[in-house]
Amino acid sequence: MENNIVIDAHCHIFNNKCVTEEHRKRQSKLPSEALSKILEKLDKRKHNYNWVDKFKTMIEIGDKDRIEDVADFLVNKSGYVNQEDINSIFVPLMMDMSHEKLNKKEPKLIPFEVQVKETVNASLNNPGRILPFLAADPRTIRKVGFNEFIEIYRENGFIGMKVYPPLGYEPDDPTLIELYIYCQKHNIPVTTHCCFGGSYSTSKIGLHGEKLKREKDRLEYWGVKPHPKKWFDMINLHDLHNLKLNFGHFGGDEIGRNLRFKGFEGRKNRKQANTESQWRNIILNGLKNTDYHNLYTDVSFHPKMEYETQSYFEQLKGYLQNKEVKKHIMFGTDWWMTSYIFEEKTYLTNFKTGAKNAGITDSELNDLLFGNAKTFLGLNDTNSVPFSNYLKFLEKHNKRNDLPLWFRNGFNC
Ligand SMILES: [Zn+2]
Repeated sequence: MENNIVIDAHCHIFNNKCVTEEHRKRQSKLPSEALSKILEKLDKRKHNYNWVDKFKTMIEIGDKDRIEDVADFLVNKSGYVNQEDINSIFVPLMMDMSHEKLNKKEPKLIPFEVQVKETVNASLNNPGRILPFLAADPRTIRKVGFNEFIEIYRENGFIGMKVYPPLGYEPDDPTLIELYIYCQKHNIPVTTHCCFGGSYSTSKIGLHGEKLKREKDRLEYWGVKPHPKKWFDMINLHDLHNLKLNFGHFGGDEIGRNLRFKGFEGRKNRKQANTESQWRNIILNGLKNTDYHNLYTDVSFHPKMEYETQSYFEQLKGYLQNKEVKKHIMFGTDWWMTSYIFEEKTYLTNFKTGAKNAGITDSELNDLLFGNAKTFLGLNDTNSVPFSNYLKFLEKHNKRNDLPLWFRNGFNC
C-alpha cells in the first residue's frame, strides 16, 4: 500500500455526554443480556467471542469523561485500524443532538461549543491522525449565525461537514442549501448519514405537525429523511453537481440472510432490507454517472462484512468493475458504534483478507483504504480549502511540526 496509510473516513469520538438519555435507552435495549444470547447463538464461526465483553467495552468508551479521552483510546489503545506497519488517519464525525428533548431529571448535554472545543483538543493531541468533521445541523447554524458557523469551521481546523437528517430536519433545509453552495464553492467535503435507521429523532411531532405516537411511526418518519433520491433532486435543482458529497453507509448494509431472518426478524425485516437495496441502487447509479463526479460513499457499519464475508466482498468486487464507482468508495468503520459487532483488533486484517479472497487487487484495495478518501478530503492538494485550513490551524497552535513524517511525505506538506 502506498505509504501504508489507511484512512478511516467514517468514525466517531463523541461521548455519552453528547447523547440524550432517550437515545441511549434505545441503544441499551440492544446490549441486554437477552440479545447477547441471541447473538451468541447466531455467531457460529467464532466460539471464543464474548458478546457481553464487547458491550462492556462499548459502554466504557461512551462513558469516558471527555471527547479527547475517547480519541486517545481510539488512536492508542483500541487497535481498531492501527497495526504496527500501518499509519491510520481517523475522520471522526461530530453528532449534534442539542435539539433533542431531555428527560425531566436528565443532566444537560455538553453544549455544542464544548463538543467543538473537546473535538479540537482531540485533533491537536493527534496531529495528522484525527481530522474531524463539524456537525452541521441547520437549527444550530441558524442559532449561531451562518457566517459565525463558517468561522467555527475555519478557526478550528475542521476538514468537512457532517449532516444527519434523521435527527430532525430535511437534507434540503434552506439553511443547508446555503451551506452546500458554500461547501461546493470551497471544495469542502460533506458526509451525510445515509441508511434507514441508526439514530433518529425522538420527537413525537413531525416537521409539518404530523403526529408520531408510536416508536415505529417515528422510525418510519425520521428514518427516511436522508433518502438518496432527495439528495439527487436537490443536486439537480440547485446545481450542486460539483459538491463533494459522501453517502455514509452506502444506503445500508443489505444485511445478510442470517441476521435478517433469524432472531433479528423484529428488528430488520424484509421491508427494511428492500429499502436498503433500493437506496444502495440509487447511490450506485449516481456514482456511475459522471454528471455527479464528486459523489462518494463509505462502507461503514456493514455487519454483513462479518457475517457473510465472502458474499459481502464478492459484491464489493462487483461494484469495483465500474471505473467511476471504483474511485468513489471509501473504507470506514463507524467506530465506536460498531464495537459490539466487530472485533477491534482484527477489523482491518479481516477487511483486507476478505477483499483479497474475493479477488480485489492491491491497487483496488489501495483506492478503498487510502486513495479515494485522500481525494474526497482534499488531502491531494495542500492548497485546497480543507487541507490548508487544517495546516493553518496546526500552525496557529504550534503543532505543525508535530505532524508525523509519514503524513508529511504522504501528502507533501
Ligand atoms: Zn456513523
